[in-house]
Amino acid sequence: MIADKQSRFLRPENIVHLCFAVVFAFSTLLTWREALVLKSSYETTERAWLVQAASGLEHQLQQSIDEMYFFRNMLRHVLSAPLETDKSREALNSFAVKRHDPLWKINIHSARSLPINGISDEALQGFPLLSRADPKRLENELTAALEMSDILQFNNPQRDFHYRSWYLSRAGFYLSSVPDDSAGTLKSYGSVVSRPYFHDASPKNNPERGVRWTEAYQSLYDEGEVVTATLPVDQGDYWYGVIIMDFSTQSLHQYLQALLPKWQDAHVILFDRAHKPVVISDGKPMSEQEINAAQVSDIFTRASGASSGHLREGGRFITWVRLQHFDGLMINVQTLSEGMRGETGRITLVLMLMWGIFSLVLLASHQAIIRLIKRLLSLQETLTWRANYDGLTRQLNRTAFFDHAERLSAFCERRQQPLSLIQLDLDHFKSVNDSLGHHAGDVVLIHAAAIMADCLRKSDVLGRVGGEEFCIVLPDTGVAEAVEIAERIRGKLASKEVLIDSAHTLKVTASLGVSSSEETQNYQIEHLQSVADDRLYQAKQSGRNRVSSGA
Ligand code: GH3
Ligand code: MG
Ligand code: MG
Repeated sequence: MIADKQSRFLRPENIVHLCFAVVFAFSTLLTWREALVLKSSYETTERAWLVQAASGLEHQLQQSIDEMYFFRNMLRHVLSAPLETDKSREALNSFAVKRHDPLWKINIHSARSLPINGISDEALQGFPLLSRADPKRLENELTAALEMSDILQFNNPQRDFHYRSWYLSRAGFYLSSVPDDSAGTLKSYGSVVSRPYFHDASPKNNPERGVRWTEAYQSLYDEGEVVTATLPVDQGDYWYGVIIMDFSTQSLHQYLQALLPKWQDAHVILFDRAHKPVVISDGKPMSEQEINAAQVSDIFTRASGASSGHLREGGRFITWVRLQHFDGLMINVQTLSEGMRGETGRITLVLMLMWGIFSLVLLASHQAIIRLIKRLLSLQETLTWRANYDGLTRQLNRTAFFDHAERLSAFCERRQQPLSLIQLDLDHFKSVNDSLGHHAGDVVLIHAAAIMADCLRKSDVLGRVGGEEFCIVLPDTGVAEAVEIAERIRGKLASKEVLIDSAHTLKVTASLGVSSSEETQNYQIEHLQSVADDRLYQAKQSGRNRVSSGA
């Protein structure tokens, strides 16, 4: 049973199936591995690209932030060691005169410095965070502001990344790098002081005293939407005010577009800390299909643990980078089709195509080989059959019959079972050929062989050993039983008519000789056949259509 299973498994077509399956599995595995390498290289490239883009932006922001720290250091320095000059005395005198005006402006040297704008002592009462309680401190601060105004005038919205710089004092005045008219002073001052970022700069709300970023909001002025960075200014334990820088989202957008012309194939979005898109690379409104609010907030959560990363979401590849100098994230969303248009995508497509072609070629060659094997096997079967069987009667031929007979004889001898043999010759067969033709003779041979086969058991072996001579070996069969079988064959042959064609039927008879190992304990086929042949001759002599045995 096991051997049978093994040989079935080792059949040529199964081996071919196995070989092709192995080749297919390996090619798929290699392609898959290659695809994984491509995937990881794509992810690395995309991430590196975004990190590079982000660092370009960081570099720009860094210059502005450095400038804020420079202003703060300068203010602290002047506050700790104020220098009294004619200019400062003039400014302080001017302040003493104007401090009760609802809006005032001190402009000592308009060609060299920016004006200091302020509100009255009375208006100051409306803002809880503002105070002019300490006159010495106020003087120092005005002197420091005057020095800062000399430098602040060099702010240039065309050249600088930030649009505008301010110093906003808690003592009810401010400096702006883009001066507005006096009518706008209270409006600007009031609105700026009321903005959350001013409150957020207090020591309580910003204990580390570093730069803070706002979310994007609509500016009071004509620069549209802006994001603002603030840096508190303290000296000793006192909080004096805030250095403020406004960045227009328009300039952020222009900068990023100039930096990355490749953006036409991706959607890079700069989100502020409120998860609001500040800049979208292609300027088109963001769609829910690209990235939705839940995904953005998920990325913000991830970004609190890592500076950059990526994730896959329904066919989109999302890369993100956390910015150092901006409270937000830069996110790149690439759809599958955009990814496929890229170099890695194209290589992946070619790889898949090659794998597909290879698989098809493999399948076609597998089919061809299997067909070839089946044909060869069937040819082998036909040849084997032809080598062992007689094509006319479909019974064993002489050689194959004797092979079988020898094996059966040895088997019976080993087991000491009787073995009998019947030799059969058709009577007057020549006359059938002569009178009705060779074809009729063939029909008779087929008919006779079928009757013989019909009378035998499964274990018996029948063979055509001559022209119209047949031999039968009967294992485990004694003489009496063999004679019985021979008689049965003879009787059936003699009783049945053979249909030659529509016009002719005829009856054939046969003479049979029977021999058995029971008689002499001789199991040799040659001997048994010779004895049976002699008895067949006797049957012929005695008038044919009979069985002759030793009994
Ligand atoms: P007997 O009763 O004495 O056996 O007479 P017989 O005519 O049968 O004599 P014999 O055994 O000598 O005749 C054999 C004949 O069988 C000779 C040959 O023409 C014919 N024969 C042998 N093989 C075939 C065959 O394959 N097809 C046909 N049609 N005839 C065959
Ligand atoms: Mg004959
Ligand atoms: Mg003969």
